Amino acid sequence: MPDDLLQRLRRFHDDYFPLHEDRFRSLVDHGQQPTTLFIGCSDSRLVPYLLTGAAPGELFIVRNVGALVPPYNGLHGLHGTAAAIEYAVLNLNVQRIVVCGHSHCGAVKALYEEISPEAKNLEAWLDLAREAVLPVQVSPEALRRTEQRSIVLQLERLMDYPMVRSRVEQRRISLHGWHYVIEEGEVHVFDVKDGRFLRASESEHSGTGPYHDVDPDTGSIFNEIDSAWACPEGVLKGKSS
Ligand SMILES: [Zn+2]
Repeated sequence: MPDDLLQRLRRFHDDYFPLHEDRFRSLVDHGQQPTTLFIGCSDSRLVPYLLTGAAPGELFIVRNVGALVPPYNGLHGLHGTAAAIEYAVLNLNVQRIVVCGHSHCGAVKALYEEISPEAKNLEAWLDLAREAVLPVQVSPEALRRTEQRSIVLQLERLMDYPMVRSRVEQRRISLHGWHYVIEEGEVHVFDVKDGRFLRASESEHSGTGPYHDVDPDTGSIFNEIDSAWACPEGVLKGKSS
């Protein structure tokens, strides 16, 4: 059986690398300075470089099942995603954090199904999206809404990271919620002002602002969220929608 992977590795070295050698060498000489932390689902159909047209050195990527953000307080044990967030913000000084979920997400679907008792880690992990589940019969529409609600939930949890919250409040970091619809070839971006997802082709921004000023009572930087998208506890901190 031919070793496909070996052939691809050789093709990268022989064909791709020579064309971009200067850039790779520069990234080694000067170090990486990615501007964006991309937190994406591990799904093989989600290809961050294709979606964003990013070149090497532009995206600091962490991926996991469901594009979920663990709590800052460490209650979920040791977690690489939390470490990546801290590193990207404190060491790399990223200016944007993208949370990118997608249509037909197996993690979201699993929230409505029974999970194998052997998959203890998976079950615990999916709790990070449990609040996004809707009390309805599962349907394509319910799944899509749950996927989007989960993305907002993760943005909200990101704001529990003190180094993220302070920089968002100082407008040094922007948060972006993306729902990639595979079959449309389009990302729907979260509009914090309207509290809903808009097609990138119809949006004036890439899934962030405009933020209003920080609410002194709630500490929220987000505007009211359309109740249709709100999680039971209020989709974003301090809101009781
Ligand atoms: Zn997924």
